[in-house]
Amino acid sequence: MNLIPFNKPFFTGKETTYIKEAVASGKISGDGIFTKKCHHFFEDQLGFKKVLLTTSCTDALEMAAILIDIKPGDEVIMPSYTFVSTANAFVLRGAKIIFVDSRRDHPGLDEDKLESLITERTKAIIPVHYAGVACDMNKIMNIAAKYSLFVIEDAAQAIDGYYEDKPIGSFGHMAAFSFHETKNIISGEGGMLVINDERFVKRAEIIREKGTNRSAFFRGEVDKYGWVDMGSSFLPSDIIAAFLYAQLENLTLIQNKRKAIWEIYDDAFRGCLDIKYEVQLPFIPEFTTNNAHMYYLVFKNKKERKAMLKHLKEKGILAVFHYLSLHKSTFYKDIYEGSAMKYSDNYSDCLIRLPLFPELDITQQDHIISSIKSFYAN
Ligand SMILES: *Cc1c(COP(=O)(O)O)cnc(C)c1O
Repeated sequence: MNLIPFNKPFFTGKETTYIKEAVASGKISGDGIFTKKCHHFFEDQLGFKKVLLTTSCTDALEMAAILIDIKPGDEVIMPSYTFVSTANAFVLRGAKIIFVDSRRDHPGLDEDKLESLITERTKAIIPVHYAGVACDMNKIMNIAAKYSLFVIEDAAQAIDGYYEDKPIGSFGHMAAFSFHETKNIISGEGGMLVINDERFVKRAEIIREKGTNRSAFFRGEVDKYGWVDMGSSFLPSDIIAAFLYAQLENLTLIQNKRKAIWEIYDDAFRGCLDIKYEVQLPFIPEFTTNNAHMYYLVFKNKKERKAMLKHLKEKGILAVFHYLSLHKSTFYKDIYEGSAMKYSDNYSDCLIRLPLFPELDITQQDHIISSIKSFYAN
């Protein structure tokens, strides 16, 4: 059997058609017809108040850090078990990162540990919706309101995820999504900033357009445009948006395929791996849906994970581990002053992600499932 990859980007077939249309329109820079179609999709169909496509989720996070005016010495609280961009966006503005441990039952941040980390200098909380499973946003928003903090959701993995009937990304002051090829909905590289707080809308447009009021100019609101604020180039080409629009039209199809695969894994493992071999399986709290971004297994120790990864590789299956705790990274470990992060470290050491992509067929999936089970049979 051929090697089963961890991920394989899914193409709906319309991507190149729409790219050709964008090219034929004669305008392929940012905010063209397909960017507008994508914005409408997110605002009208998914119900976000205001969205702006960006070149990546990383860029959307950087925009958010500028918008909430992060200054050197400000403290920003986020999980240690996350991607580097969650932290980098704020480090770039001089923030001090305060890490919070993961939950015992889930790699997402432990909401109950947030309040003890808040100081006079705390400016924002960055919940990361790991595996598209929502953090407890009621708890987080209540704490933020009590201490007047901003909340920026890292919703990179959370497209089509819901927390208590509202889309993930509609709770914080802003939220950042990713359309990187490893996510559910893709454009190669790509992202989006969601703005839920009206106060940030005008300035967000300016920061995204190199600090100019070009967007207002094209709407006819000002008669010439110029340099009015700090900024950068955060908007994607309309070619990227054309690709993305083809994916968005097929959101339901893509999600149904992913959810079916996720359920097959879960049916095969729950009541078996967890009970017989102490493997921790994905936990979906009752307040959140599951967007089937990821199926992961957490083994009882690092040694068993290593042996499992080796076993799967011999069977032609590419499973992969995930984040290394950021407080232990080369970049941060020497300046980190906080306490140990027991659960974050445990996920760093013991978690693997299984192949999950729309074209994973049932023969391949059966092979993955039986290979995992045969590891314990021997
Ligand atoms: C993928 C990811 C990012 C970065 O997304 P890009 O679009 O590649 O910049 C940030 N945070 C999390 C949690 C991610 O999974």
